[in-house]
Amino acid sequence: ATPTALMVGTGRGAQLGVLLKGPEVLESTKRVDTIVLDKTGTVTTGEMTLQSMAVITDGPCEEWALRSAAAVEAGSEHPIGRAIVAAAARRYAEPALPADEFRAIEGAGVTGVVDGVRVTVRKPSRDVGELPEPLADAVAGAHGGGATAVIVSFDDRPVAVLVVGDQIKESSAAAIAELKHMGLTPVLLTGDNTGAADHVARSVGIEQVIAEVTPAQKLATIADLQSHGRSVAMAGDGINDAAALAQADLGIAMGTGTDVAIQAGDLTVVSGDLWAVVDAIRLARRTLTTIK
Ligand code: ADP
Ligand code: MG
Repeated sequence: ATPTALMVGTGRGAQLGVLLKGPEVLESTKRVDTIVLDKTGTVTTGEMTLQSMAVITDGPCEEWALRSAAAVEAGSEHPIGRAIVAAAARRYAEPALPADEFRAIEGAGVTGVVDGVRVTVRKPSRDVGELPEPLADAVAGAHGGGATAVIVSFDDRPVAVLVVGDQIKESSAAAIAELKHMGLTPVLLTGDNTGAADHVARSVGIEQVIAEVTPAQKLATIADLQSHGRSVAMAGDGINDAAALAQADLGIAMGTGTDVAIQAGDLTVVSGDLWAVVDAIRLARRTLTTIK
């Protein structure tokens, strides 16, 4: 491969809205046969909104549960956090509550102290049945309908369920069909619940789904595919995707995503659109054909 030929690829890439870490990046796409796609923010818009909520009857009122949750989520970059903060701001004129000791629970949620109470907002554990009603019903209903439910706990006692959701990007289904046409096998990889993951996968034509994984398991999934002889491109946008993006043969960061993902990727698609992923892989193949 001559550097010049690869530089052409880089220049054309810039026109397509594909930013390469370096021209050598294109070489790693030569054998790519699998495209792993993060769900939230990659296949879907990542612009989540609060759809509904449920509170235990002998617990705090809706306002207190939502505003406390928003107080800890203020420290989060996750779309779920942004949805909760926006909903609280929209519903209640009161200023945001301050939270101390904020900490993100990797791939699971956030926690902090609000007015002396330890407030945690995180994904439900596997034993949803152990939640008091109406929380268990709210979680089951949300997941069955393709949405995402998170639990608000006060000092480890579950008090509310917040149901959030976003939309599938308009371009996702057609772009994924094209990736399949190009001979790539798509895989949906997400930390989100299986119900929401299956719902999205069905809607966009992805048969292989790996859900409810931690960031470390995302990385392990990529490594596992590679150990089975697959050459893997991974597209993602979140902090939770960074390790997997670095592990992939070709890490594709969505330009609309977090800085950490962009740093971990080999290339960035500026628009955050899956058509740009199609363009990037086509570009790489064309460039390599030219060099040969
Ligand atoms: P994804 O792969 O869908 O981007 P993540 O790995 O970021 O998911 O998160 C996995 C799950 O952890 C989310 O679906 C959600 O249930 C929970 N979670 C992550 N961040 C937050 C947060 N800030 N607030 C509440 N729940 C969260
Ligand atoms: Mg994401």
